[in-house]
Amino acid sequence: MAEVLVLAEHADGEVKKVTLELLTAAKRLGSPSVVWTGPGVDTGAARLGEYGAEKVYAADSPDFSGYVVAPTAELLASLVADKAPAAVLVAGTTEGKEIAGRLAIKTGSGVLTDAVNVTAGDDGAPVAEQPNFGGAITVHSVVRAGTPIIAVRPNAISPEAAAGAAAVEAVSFAASDAAKAAAVTERVVAEKGERPDLTEAQLVVSGGRGTGSEEGFKIIEKLADALGAAVGASRAVTDAGWYPHQFQVGQTGKTVSPQLYMAVGISGAIQHRAGMQTSKTIVAINKDPEAPIFEIADFGIVGDLFTVVPQLLDEIAKHKGV
Ligand SMILES: Cc1cc2nc3c(=O)[nH]c(=O)nc-3n(C[C@H](O)[C@H](O)[C@H](O)COP(=O)(O)OP(=O)(O)OC[C@H]3O[C@@H](n4cnc5c(N)ncnc54)[C@H](O)[C@@H]3O)c2cc1C
Repeated sequence: MAEVLVLAEHADGEVKKVTLELLTAAKRLGSPSVVWTGPGVDTGAARLGEYGAEKVYAADSPDFSGYVVAPTAELLASLVADKAPAAVLVAGTTEGKEIAGRLAIKTGSGVLTDAVNVTAGDDGAPVAEQPNFGGAITVHSVVRAGTPIIAVRPNAISPEAAAGAAAVEAVSFAASDAAKAAAVTERVVAEKGERPDLTEAQLVVSGGRGTGSEEGFKIIEKLADALGAAVGASRAVTDAGWYPHQFQVGQTGKTVSPQLYMAVGISGAIQHRAGMQTSKTIVAINKDPEAPIFEIADFGIVGDLFTVVPQLLDEIAKHKGV
C-alpha cells in the first residue's frame, strides 16, 4: 500500500490534535507515515501509533527551529522524491499552508488548501472537500499533477484511534543555504491564559460590534470562561481595538471549526462566515431578527445580548451547581 506522508505538528514532544486528524484522513488513502521535525519523537511516537501511524520519519536538526518554514518544505521534498507517497497531508494552519505551497513548487505538484475532508476517490486518489465563498458552495477537488498536497483545516475531521506500528526511522537532514535565507532571531512565548487555543478549541464564543465597547466585550470573555471556551471576535471588534487582532475570526482572520460556535452581537457578514461556517453547531444571539447570521445558525436567540447573556450565565452556574 502506498505511503501517505503526514507532517506532524507538535510542541515539547506533545502531538497536536490536528496531527491525529490528519492520520485519520491518511489511513483512508494508504499507509500513514509521519514526518517529525526537531526533537521530541521519543515521547510523541507512541501517540502517533495509537492513531494509525505505521512509520515515523524523524529528522532532528536545529535547522527547523532556526530557519522558519523553508527547511521543513525541503525535508518533505526530499522524502517525496525518495518515497513517492500517494499524498502529503499538512495542517491547514498558516505555517502548514506556507509549507504546502513551497512543497508544491519544489515537487511540481498541485496543492489543495482549506480542505474540511479528504476521502479516496474511485481510482484511490485523494479527493479534498473544500467550502468556497464563505461556505455557500462546496467543491470536491483532485490534484492532477505530481503528488497531491493537501492542507486540512484543524478540527474538521474527527480523529479515530487505529493501531499502527509507529516505527521510528531517523532521517539525517541539513538545510541548504537557500532554506536558511530567513532565520529566526528571537522567540517570544505568547502569554497563554487558561483559555483553549482559538483554532483548536471545541467551543468558541465570539463577540461582535453589538457588544458596543471594550468594556461591553468583557461579557463575551465571561461567557467563554463559564463554558471553558475560546474567545473570538468579528473584525468590527478587532478594528475598533476592543480585542486583539489575533482573535479575529473570518476571511482575514482565523478559521475555526469547533463543535459549538456562539456568535454574539455579530451580524454574519460573508467575510465573518468564511471563518466559522463549518462549525458543527452555531448559536446566534442578535437583537435583529433579520441578521444574516440566523441563516446559518442552528439555534437563534433574538434579544439584547446584555439581557440574554446574563441569563445564560445564571443557567450555566445553576447547571454547574455554583
Ligand atoms: C476584505 C474584507 C475582509 C474582511 N474580513 C473579515 C473577517 O475576517 N472577519 C470579520 O468578522 N469581518 C471581516 N470583514 C468585515 C465584515 O464585512 C463585517 O463588516 C464585520 O464582520 C461586521 O462585524 P460585526 O458583525 O461585529 O458588526 P455589524 O455588522 O455592525 O453587526 C453587529 C450586529 O450586532 C447586533 N447587535 C447590536 N447591538 C446588539 C445587542 N445589544 N444585542 C444583540 N445584538 C446586537 C446588530 O443587530 C448587528 O447584527 C471583512 C471585510 C472586508 C471588506
